[in-house]
Amino acid sequence: MNLNEYKGVYVFIEQKSREIQNVSLELLGRGRGLADTLEEELVAIFLGNEIKDQCQDLISHGADRVIYVDSPHLDRYLTEPYAQALAAISKSKKPNVILIGATSTGRDLAPRVSARLSTGLTADCTSLEISEEKELLMTRPAFGGNLMATIICPDHRPQMSSVRPGVMQKLAVDSTRTGEIINFDMKFDESKFKVRFIEEVKEAKQLVKIEDAHVLVSGGRGVGTVENFKNLENLALNIGATVSASRAMVDLGIVGHDRQVGQTGKTVRPDIYFALGISGAIQHIAGMEESEYIIAINKDKGANIFNNADLGIVGDVNKILPLLNREISKFSQKKA
Ligand code: FAD
Repeated sequence: MNLNEYKGVYVFIEQKSREIQNVSLELLGRGRGLADTLEEELVAIFLGNEIKDQCQDLISHGADRVIYVDSPHLDRYLTEPYAQALAAISKSKKPNVILIGATSTGRDLAPRVSARLSTGLTADCTSLEISEEKELLMTRPAFGGNLMATIICPDHRPQMSSVRPGVMQKLAVDSTRTGEIINFDMKFDESKFKVRFIEEVKEAKQLVKIEDAHVLVSGGRGVGTVENFKNLENLALNIGATVSASRAMVDLGIVGHDRQVGQTGKTVRPDIYFALGISGAIQHIAGMEESEYIIAINKDKGANIFNNADLGIVGDVNKILPLLNREISKFSQKKA
């Protein structure tokens, strides 16, 4: 492989129902800095159906060039057509770097494309820099966040990295920027399409956003399962609170990312914050330490959350919650 043939910082632009996702604009922001340091172009790869009109937005957010594929096969994210298109563009254009958002879409797409291109992928990066040797330095937490590992991809191209939403900064929009918009003529291999879109079932969203809630009942890995989480939802219902969570619960798929409190989630400042089965990792504390009154339940009396709590209860949250719900119900019945 002649590494010198590979040029340009490419950003995969994620869209949902033609709405460009913030993480992609954040990656254009960081990609601009990387491309300038490398003295190479910043290119947006935009896949979707009837998306051509939005290409200029990507130039306004920092791209020098947009390569787009407009096809009904790309109307909604499906692994195979998206992987085919991104791999085909990469094989044809030979990018030096490809950046992808570490969203559920990006996490599905990035490893498949890296395998098709026979290159490496560093997932969930929190920092991207260029070394003196002009290599991409991809930094990500390792060993449960206890140390930061900087990873390079010295022998293969493109250098591929995925980055969590909310970590990089968008550029200010400059609608006077100009750039090239190119339609990529994609020939799909439909015989490889194994999955068909049938129906989208949308989850009913909470009415109150966690950043606006006065009382938050927040669950962590200590709550553990979907069944136990119902106890927590009942408590929230009983006291008119809103449900939120630590990232552990989001990563387990029990709670949506829109309810995550912390450094890569939302910053909240309720009057009362219940931290239930949450250890109190620094990234979580960063998002809730300004709460007026913090009540923590944890079975480990040494848990860091107690250093931030106004009221701490040492015990099994999954035994305490049903008791609490029962007592609150009795109290409400008496009042009625
Ligand atoms: P754990 O750390 O596993 O803690 C579980 C706790 O539950 C423990 O204290 C345990 O004693 C207790 N427990 C277990 N069973 C019970 C029980 N039956 N009853 C009572 N207590 C029990 N985290 C966030 O929350 N938000 C973020 O935005 C965020 N951003 C991050 C960004 C980066 C770059 C990195 C590296 C990490 C980030 N994290 C974030 C992750 C963070 O470091 C922790 O891993 C995460 O907060 C841990 O969640 P947790 O407290 O629910 O789980």
